[in-house]
Amino acid sequence: MYEVTVEAGFSSGHYLRNYRGKCENPHGHNYKVRVTLAGAALDEAGLLLDFKLNELEPFTVLNPSAENIAKYLYDQTNEQLAGMTAGRVRVKDCTIWETDTTTATYYE
Ligand SMILES: [Zn+2]
Repeated sequence: MYEVTVEAGFSSGHYLRNYRGKCENPHGHNYKVRVTLAGAALDEAGLLLDFKLNELEPFTVLNPSAENIAKYLYDQTNEQLAGMTAGRVRVKDCTIWETDTTTATYYE
């Protein structure tokens, strides 16, 4: 199997509903995202994927916790990869840094 990893950052405000603690009131985070892709075959150029992150949609219903953001990006990326690579490449895992020292990871 081959794996490729991309990291990107984005800043966003959020708050958590039905929650008592640091994230209950509106505030911002500088999130970091790391997505690892996996596939058994390379393309004609010898690449697993020329990777680009798409823009985030707003979380209108789902609580924007790091865990939910990780799953959202995992699902969105996997959905796009399925069409782009005909199932050749899938997302292995997606990790979100909400601070320098705390992460949440989603995988299946
Ligand atoms: Zn927060």
